Amino acid sequence: MSPKPLTFPAAGPVSGARPGRPRLVKLLASRRRKQALMGALFPVIVAAGWVFPLAGFFIPLCMVLGLGLAAFRGRTWCDWLCPRGSFEDAWLARLSRQTRIPEFFRRAPLRLAVLAFLMAMLTWQLLKRWPDPYAIGAFFVLLLTVTTGVAVVLGMIYQQRAWCYLCPIGTLAHWLGKNRRPLTLAAERCTACQLCTRGCPMQLQPAVLKAAPRMPHGGDCLKCGLCVAACPRQALDFAEAA
Ligand code: SF4
Ligand code: SF4
Repeated sequence: MSPKPLTFPAAGPVSGARPGRPRLVKLLASRRRKQALMGALFPVIVAAGWVFPLAGFFIPLCMVLGLGLAAFRGRTWCDWLCPRGSFEDAWLARLSRQTRIPEFFRRAPLRLAVLAFLMAMLTWQLLKRWPDPYAIGAFFVLLLTVTTGVAVVLGMIYQQRAWCYLCPIGTLAHWLGKNRRPLTLAAERCTACQLCTRGCPMQLQPAVLKAAPRMPHGGDCLKCGLCVAACPRQALDFAEAA
């Protein structure tokens, strides 16, 4: 089932737009195009890796860029800069059952176990293949292919971004950038309509900020801004400070 595209409601009777919102709504207009492009590139990158193993070094590059950005902007990388994340939103979503991602996917024990397993595997293979760059690149390609296979299965069973809770880069970025650019909600504007919750690619619930100081699993927010743009009351925005 293809997810319903979010529409961005007009501002309505609310006066005084919150500071970051106009710029964000403009940026969102191009988000879908960027994701479609990056998502279409992703299978090409994987296929190229099987022919040219050195292309596998694309993966450590993604790790460095994703984590570097996380230190300042949270999981921004995962939104449309990550080709696999884009592939999930732009293409895999069409095949997804769109059911609830299990809560234990979001919790530390499983995430730590996946991270530890993949890092141990990576270290072992790097030591074994060192210093042959072709053999190392080929392992990165294999890793990318297998984890993408898992991502596709989970995405079809649950929701397209289910893997993003288990991805090692996502898990590390979630801890590293936990307090960066958090969502804020002007409680007096919020009518608890839940429109912000409906289209969140990570199935987060920004509306809980009406009653709570923090959103559960807020470190996994991709900073995509879909919820900010979807709110007809302009109640949501990102705090620029950490
Ligand atoms: S933040 Fe906006 S979209 Fe979300 S529940 Fe409140 S009024 Fe509705
Ligand atoms: S909470 Fe809002 S900004 Fe964060 S991932 Fe969900 S829709 Fe995007």
